Amino acid sequence: MKDLSTKAKVRWCPGCGNFAILIAFKRTLIELQIEPERVVAVAGIGCHGRIVDYINVNSIHTIHGRVIPIATGIKLANKDLMVVGFAGDGDAYAIGLGHLPHAARRNIDIKYIVHDNMVFGLTTGQVAPTSPKGMKTRSTPYGSVEEPLNPIAFALACGCTFVARGFSGELEHLKEIFKRALTHRGFAFVDVLQPCVAFNNTYEYFRKRVYKLEEVGHDPTDFKLAMKRALEWGDRVPIGVFYSVEKPTLEDEIPQLCGTPLTLRNISNIDITPAYTYLR
Ligand code: SF4
Repeated sequence: MKDLSTKAKVRWCPGCGNFAILIAFKRTLIELQIEPERVVAVAGIGCHGRIVDYINVNSIHTIHGRVIPIATGIKLANKDLMVVGFAGDGDAYAIGLGHLPHAARRNIDIKYIVHDNMVFGLTTGQVAPTSPKGMKTRSTPYGSVEEPLNPIAFALACGCTFVARGFSGELEHLKEIFKRALTHRGFAFVDVLQPCVAFNNTYEYFRKRVYKLEEVGHDPTDFKLAMKRALEWGDRVPIGVFYSVEKPTLEDEIPQLCGTPLTLRNISNIDITPAYTYLR
């Protein structure tokens, strides 16, 4: 299988946590032997968004905060595609946050990977929804006065059937999380602690604190335990799969989406009224 690189020159800052996400994702596709022709990568706006230029799969670099709607449309049109959304923390948890609960409760079979560097990197360092309270940035020179969002607890509360956290400083572990996310049937959410070496270099901070859930016997089918671990943040920061359960997907629930993908059918004869009503 090809190494999935493109001719595009990688333009992230040397040492950026995005490199680990790119490498882990490409290795995931290769190890799972997923044909690149079947993969669609959707990225939003931010430093992370360049990832679609660096992987030789079908891709769309979409507008700010709209990764999930675009990915949803692609999946509904052709349910046989592997649709993976990449978003930054500003993209996913600020302007685009409203889409996450609905993708989660629908359990549409797409994957959502958030490059969470806790800062707006592309615009040279402003406070973001996951920035720690007190963090000094260009937009908060005296320190942020806001509490950060907890993406893992939020995703669990939204009803995500797969919730995980990775760390760019743990590449092999990150790849194993991606493999589990891509083989999960339903909406899979992965928040990646992605140091921004230019504006929020958290490598050392997290290296001292992360521990792996699988090494402490975590049961990912136990929702209450997952939520308890999700609230753990400070001296110890858990990474790994918090929660993973099987439920019917959106595609399972809509008869028109079962069987042959819509894009391969003559859809002029299909009664789409029930599906349209559902999705409005
Ligand atoms: Fe990476 Fe930060 Fe540089 Fe953007 S600004 S490429 S997130 S290190």
